[in-house]
Amino acid sequence: MNFMVSERLKKLPPYLFAEIDRVKRELRSQGKELIDLGVGDPDQPTPPHVIEALARAARDPSTHTYALDSGMEELREAIADWYLRRFGVELDPATEVLPLLGSKEGIAHIPLAFVNPGDLVLVPNPGYPVYGSGTIFAGGIPVAMGLTEENGFLADLNAIDDETASRARLMFLNYPNNPTSAVCDLDYFEAAAAFARKNDIILCHDAAYTELAFDGYNPPSFLQAEGAKEVGIEFHSLSKTYNMTGWRTAFAVGNADIISGLSKVKSNIDSGIFRAVQIAAIAALNGPQDFRLELLEMYRRRRDTLVEGLNSLGWKVKKPRATFYVWCRVPGDYDSSSFTTLLMEEAGIVTTPGVGLGSYGEGYVRMTLTRPEAELAQAVERLGKLEVFRA
Ligand SMILES: *Cc1c(COP(=O)(O)O)cnc(C)c1O
Repeated sequence: MNFMVSERLKKLPPYLFAEIDRVKRELRSQGKELIDLGVGDPDQPTPPHVIEALARAARDPSTHTYALDSGMEELREAIADWYLRRFGVELDPATEVLPLLGSKEGIAHIPLAFVNPGDLVLVPNPGYPVYGSGTIFAGGIPVAMGLTEENGFLADLNAIDDETASRARLMFLNYPNNPTSAVCDLDYFEAAAAFARKNDIILCHDAAYTELAFDGYNPPSFLQAEGAKEVGIEFHSLSKTYNMTGWRTAFAVGNADIISGLSKVKSNIDSGIFRAVQIAAIAALNGPQDFRLELLEMYRRRRDTLVEGLNSLGWKVKKPRATFYVWCRVPGDYDSSSFTTLLMEEAGIVTTPGVGLGSYGEGYVRMTLTRPEAELAQAVERLGKLEVFRA
């Protein structure tokens, strides 16, 4: 037997978190209490009315069969209504809305619809790893758009040379951004849409964090930008907005031809979303939203505790205006991997090394606000005992 994996699997970048996982297991087995600021997964439960909707729908046998359509009509309408209320963007529920089994699923599959072997795909670096792996699975070549502090962690469209732009088929953007927590304004989206049109590039905007913003900041949708719907789509997810990461429910909206291509790929791979989950998603989108004020207030308090704490140690960390990530420049002579290891071994704090999310993430670590405030305060206390912060 030959169990050699395919060339495309061999092309995936090495999994940099294996070493962290190993150290984590080892420290835990020694009885060390770790504060895990590594995982971007909400610690709060899904709202009760959404769970109720699922439970009720699950008892109805008509939900039990294959959902072999591109999402229930009622769900596609609920998504279009939500978009109109939230962003003032009009969508045709029949052609411009597609429910997904999580936005990771849609992001991983979109290149299969539009990228030919050898085509370039522009991906933010550091960034969500799926932009690159989905590209590689389609035979495409990911090209890094470096997100640096100098450019406010906004992909610099002017830095993309003509040759690259002409060979690029697709571009991914993500604001509010994971991992840098950077935000952008509508002008940036407008420039991106114009760039995409000029170079005949499909623009895929990952909007997973538009509903997690603070201090009165209201993140825009890419589709609010002029010309956006002619060149692109936007991915949204119920995962972070409604604490539903395990439910696998999200959607893509925007250009009908792009939506149709993605839908064609999906119809050959999955057989739809469990209708009870679709009904629960309708309940989330159409139901009361006031619990989110409390949720955001909770994240804001955690953010202030962590960032103000870090700064009191002499670290210079900016308060994020959105997302539940804090992107910190590594102090002293450390690089992101050695600093991550130091934090784990000397302070029992798990973080994500920036370099694990792309070469431009070198020199940073990412911390998440998905742990209780008291734990974040304890993390700051533990950090204060480290040599690097006792200058
Ligand atoms: C969490 C996250 C998502 C959402 O993924 P789902 O598959 O919908 O759970 C998408 N993009 C980014 C950048 C994320 O951090």
